[in-house]
Amino acid sequence: MRVRVDDLAAPHRESTLASEFTLIDRIKSRATRRDDVVLGIGDDAALLRVPAGELLVASVDTLVAGRHFPDDTAPADLGWKALAVNLSDLAAMGATPAWCTLALTLPSADADWLDAFLDGFLELAALHDIAIVGGDTTSGPLAITVGIHGFVPEGQALRRSGARVGDDVWVTGTLGDAAGGLKQLQARGLQSAKLRHRLDRPTPRVAAGLALRGLARAAIDVSDGLAADLGHVLAASGVGAELELGRLPTSVPLAEQFAEERERWPLQLGGGDDYELCFVASAANALAIEQALAASDTYATVVGRIVEGSGLSLRTPEGEAYCLATAGFDHFAGHA
Ligand code: ADP
Ligand code: MG
Repeated sequence: MRVRVDDLAAPHRESTLASEFTLIDRIKSRATRRDDVVLGIGDDAALLRVPAGELLVASVDTLVAGRHFPDDTAPADLGWKALAVNLSDLAAMGATPAWCTLALTLPSADADWLDAFLDGFLELAALHDIAIVGGDTTSGPLAITVGIHGFVPEGQALRRSGARVGDDVWVTGTLGDAAGGLKQLQARGLQSAKLRHRLDRPTPRVAAGLALRGLARAAIDVSDGLAADLGHVLAASGVGAELELGRLPTSVPLAEQFAEERERWPLQLGGGDDYELCFVASAANALAIEQALAASDTYATVVGRIVEGSGLSLRTPEGEAYCLATAGFDHFAGHA
């Protein structure tokens, strides 16, 4: 079921305006393949084989120009990110990714743009053995919709609803980098390439999600900010949580660029686009979790614990209550 990497080479580049079908042919000629794809791109729909005893896990996410990525984002980064945000959803379910569909709405049939987009998209697809099995190509303002499919053995998915009082709250990696990169971009001042890279090329925590099967009780990916996303877990589980701000995992570039912790907290709690996993687990599993994550090249930090009640309470290192001014991103906020 390995992706055939020899299919990944870019075709000869010529600057052309192509037809819809030339674009689809280009995608088809470069698309990664898998043995469990009985019928891929080219018919009315794909035929796919789900392993016996496993559930199909399906999700879809859209990136809209001007809304989900800065206008100056390179097409290859856009390709990477469009797939990464979807892989992140499967990671948060503890699923093994397998197939994706790609619906492109493009202002013009620009073959060069498509080739560059596919460079980033297929680079990440190859890392996770994902086959493109279909899609749609239309004209209009730039928007990219990726559907993703994977598997999880019955009963092993990481849902939002399993958190229990007394459990630890963990996050993988570091928080706030993508939001820091975006803030610098909006301020139009000096920009850290490392923070911008986290915004443009998030790492979906697929291996961590798999490692957490059977160890975590609930999980979610951090796409809208830790406060909002953990809030979904708390609501689904009927519990509350206390977070210690002094424990929020912080990267070296973020600490360098935003030296004050009070400047960082809103980025780390309210900024989206980190695509780390937030998960909840029994304290008895802490050592097993650290070992399982280390074996999958990820680390994670305990940032708080689950308590009775509802909602999130935040404590500064001095033990004071802290109030976050901004909630996570809501596309329809203010459009009532
Ligand atoms: P239909 O009219 O039946 O929807 P299309 O002409 O849209 O068919 O697509 C023809 C084939 O090409 C289908 O198999 C479809 O899944 C695939 N396809 C179309 N656009 C894309 C795309 N952007 N990426 C991958 N496959 C695509
Ligand atoms: Mg179609």
